[in-house]
Amino acid sequence: MSTGSNIPQVRKLVTAIPGPKSQALMQRRSDAVSAALGMTIPVMVEKAGGGVIVDIDGNSIIDMGSGIAVVSVGNSADRVVKNVINQVQAFTHTCFMVAPYMGYIEVCEALNRLTPGTGKKKSALFNSGAEALENAVKIARRFTKREAVVVFEHGYHGRTNLTMAMTAKNMPYKDGFGPFTPEIYRMPMAYPFRWPGGAENCANEALDVVLHKIEKEIGVNRLAAIVIEPIQGEGGFIVPPKGFIAGLSKFCTDNGALFIADEVQTGFARTGVMFACEDEGVVPDLITTAKGIAGGLPLAAVTGRADVMDSVHAGGLGGTFGGSPIACAAALGAIATIEEEKLCDRALHLGKIMRESLLGMQKTYAIIGDVRGRGAMQAIELVLPGGIEPNSAALASIVKYCQVNGVLILSAGTYGNVIRLLPPLVMPENLLLDALEILNQGIAQAI
Ligand SMILES: *Cc1c(COP(=O)(O)O)cnc(C)c1O
Repeated sequence: MSTGSNIPQVRKLVTAIPGPKSQALMQRRSDAVSAALGMTIPVMVEKAGGGVIVDIDGNSIIDMGSGIAVVSVGNSADRVVKNVINQVQAFTHTCFMVAPYMGYIEVCEALNRLTPGTGKKKSALFNSGAEALENAVKIARRFTKREAVVVFEHGYHGRTNLTMAMTAKNMPYKDGFGPFTPEIYRMPMAYPFRWPGGAENCANEALDVVLHKIEKEIGVNRLAAIVIEPIQGEGGFIVPPKGFIAGLSKFCTDNGALFIADEVQTGFARTGVMFACEDEGVVPDLITTAKGIAGGLPLAAVTGRADVMDSVHAGGLGGTFGGSPIACAAALGAIATIEEEKLCDRALHLGKIMRESLLGMQKTYAIIGDVRGRGAMQAIELVLPGGIEPNSAALASIVKYCQVNGVLILSAGTYGNVIRLLPPLVMPENLLLDALEILNQGIAQAI
């Protein structure tokens, strides 16, 4: 398959990481940019394509993060670049609410076609994942005429005020930023590795607890929506056991509430299907998408039941830049790439390689407590040997080792002890194997 890039697909270090040119520019970064912005790897990027990032010192680094599950079709993918160039030359902005254009409509048509469910669906476009979540909640409250929204432990939904309330983890996302919006209720998450009653009882017990709490503490008749990531992203790739998601969805259907799948991280072929909730046999009332939707351009969407989407009064949704023509052109390029290059199959293939490799490492290294994920979204949870005590010291050491050896990997998890792998789906196999070998060495030296 094609990576859609002419950058050589190799790991190549010509200086230390970071190299001298990157190091020299980091001072300008810290002089100009707010100290509040984090940084995973201290190199300045010059170009990127396929599965590699090239820094200004000439180092070629394997990208195991895809800019947080965004460039799944590869960086600067052919069809994305071509569409964006054509669109920028035609027009850059009119505001869809002022004067419409076909790109926006075509993206909505694609989303309505690709998301689960055969019923009539409609979409609305926004700029970021958080904005999509904000709008999904607005729509759910408007449609149900109820206010309560249920979210989960370890969940992540964004950094705006409403989505901070929905996000679980205090540090760094919420600390000192309150007060937060009311009527958001957090429920226990079906987290098999840490479920007190054991992984085999997790689905049933967790569902019982959640439904009991909704009935007794919120009141079913006040519930507007349950919002959940089918596989939690920032929370550490927590995969709820089969039955949990379906049980929540059924409860919503039975009780006049909406089931909202936050597929901002899991969407667009990442887990081996177009949307992760397909694997649960669930048709959400609304789905939020962003990250992987447009090959790196900022775009987000809410897609769902036409009667729900149309229940909002005219003018009730929108925004100046939402569904920018340039981002829409990029999305059409990215979606064409996913379909024509069969990237769902590719995600399964890369996922199998990662999973076999990680399970092998788990046999060797007692600090790997859990290997989990689906498709090209795989993670390991690091623990102190013999138990489930989080091992964040090992994580820091492994991430650092990988970086200085030219592999960029991301961390995650409430306890800061999860390594998550999110390679671009076009990554060549040998590059992925090379990255996994470096990861293996990183774990070996961390013990
Ligand atoms: C990243 C993420 C968001 C927020 O998206 P932004 O574009 O960063 O606002 C929301 N939900 C999930 C599941 C995410 O992974």
